[in-house]
Amino acid sequence: MRVPLPTFTTCSAPLPLDEMTYISPTSGERIGLSFLTPRSLEDLRRRRVMMSHWAHTSYGMMGRTPDFLNVSIMAMASAGDYFAQNRPEFKQNIVNYYEYVREKDLALTHTLVNLQRNRVPSAASINYSTDVALAVVKETDAGIVVRGPRVLATLGPLSDEIAVYPTRNSTLGIGEDGQRYAFAFAIPCGTPRLRFLCRESFDLNRTHFDHPLGSRFEEMDAIVFFDDVLVPWERVFLYGDIDLCNNLSSATNQYTHSGHQVVTKNVAKCEFVVGLGSLMVKTLGSGSIPQVQSLIAETIENLEIMRSLLQTAEANAALDQWGVMCPAPIPIMIARNLFIRMYPRMAEIVQLLGSSSLMALPSEIDFEGPLGSFLDQYLDTDTTQARDRVRLFHLAWDLACSSFGGRQVLYERYFQGDWMRNASALYNAYGTGPLMQQVQEFLNRP
Ligand SMILES: Cc1cc2nc3c(=O)[nH]c(=O)nc-3n(C[C@H](O)[C@H](O)[C@H](O)COP(=O)(O)OP(=O)(O)OC[C@H]3O[C@@H](n4cnc5c(N)ncnc54)[C@H](O)[C@@H]3O)c2cc1C
Repeated sequence: MRVPLPTFTTCSAPLPLDEMTYISPTSGERIGLSFLTPRSLEDLRRRRVMMSHWAHTSYGMMGRTPDFLNVSIMAMASAGDYFAQNRPEFKQNIVNYYEYVREKDLALTHTLVNLQRNRVPSAASINYSTDVALAVVKETDAGIVVRGPRVLATLGPLSDEIAVYPTRNSTLGIGEDGQRYAFAFAIPCGTPRLRFLCRESFDLNRTHFDHPLGSRFEEMDAIVFFDDVLVPWERVFLYGDIDLCNNLSSATNQYTHSGHQVVTKNVAKCEFVVGLGSLMVKTLGSGSIPQVQSLIAETIENLEIMRSLLQTAEANAALDQWGVMCPAPIPIMIARNLFIRMYPRMAEIVQLLGSSSLMALPSEIDFEGPLGSFLDQYLDTDTTQARDRVRLFHLAWDLACSSFGGRQVLYERYFQGDWMRNASALYNAYGTGPLMQQVQEFLNRP
């Protein structure tokens, strides 16, 4: 069944309640739709419409609107029996946690990456040093005590809770000591001895005119330090089972559900870049130049590829072993991996389209200053008055050149982990056997 994808051009209109909320199965109150456990294609479509509304509130510039993690927690809770394989009580822990954040509408950050002292690849050792990896240092009747840092907690200072997933590749070379690095848990961000260290803010307290994106959509990233933090047993979801930790994402389909949010966000972001680039071209009067047209065409291709993959993932969705309607994983993986290359290129295209207009940028206050009349006289174009041209190019600069824009590029490159590992995951998941067979049959022809 085909699932139509809407195009959004505005996020200012009031939204129907049913597009953002549903009725809680436990309290009967209205709760956020990002917690919905999808059981049908219609549920998935409904969830994506909600995600799209959230994505359009920042035009894709905030990757970590809470729906990103809400769908992950939903996926894990639905797969409660997976956690029970580790210890029976862990199933109830994850189910209780899901219901808790759902009913309280809490916002989550998460960390799954250990710091590294040495990145030299070796078949015999892990690619991070165990002495800087987050580890369990003690077990008590009350819970586990964890020590060490993790990166990065995007949205950390704005979140209520932090989810700590198993780190990647935790079986490789850790040896018998590996159990103490293998866990999944979640605790309040205000837990004693838990510390967040934020990077410099990209909201520089400038006007929306001068810094249109940085002044609105700073979601912040932080290093997290666990200084012998007690995690109560009821907040532990996995512990000590390396295989269950390593397979958590794929077995629960958490990565695919969060990918549904990621690709929805990618569509919103592509739409914004196509609209921005086209306005830049119109303003500069460069639309008849073939090379300029080809740059805009490239952004349109990216948008339509993202839309198509999202649509394919929904059209080919199926109930998983936990009874949850799950988007098809391969189109989601491909969309995620492609965007790692697409978004930096789109930022580059904005630079190529804008050139010096991205630097010949007076501040809002300069229009009222001694050179204001020069600005009005010389910075207009055939289609646009000076002030409107400058406002537009401040936006292009904030997307492609500013510290906020640089962070957007870095985010899209790395927020979902090492791109090489993601490529390997696709390589291993795809199953090229039938295609090799096809070629083999051709070779075998007389
Ligand atoms: C803005 C931003 C926000 C993020 N938010 C979050 C978050 O909220 N939660 C979270 O858990 N994570 C988050 N991440 C992801 C995470 O922190 C890492 O950036 C990501 O997993 C890559 O790890 P790294 O930065 O240590 O890269 P590195 O491991 O240092 O890799 C850097 C480069 O070197 C290459 N490389 C490294 N080691 C090897 C090797 N042995 N062999 C070959 N090549 C190698 C990699 O392929 C890569 O290209 C975020 C990242 C960014 C940039």
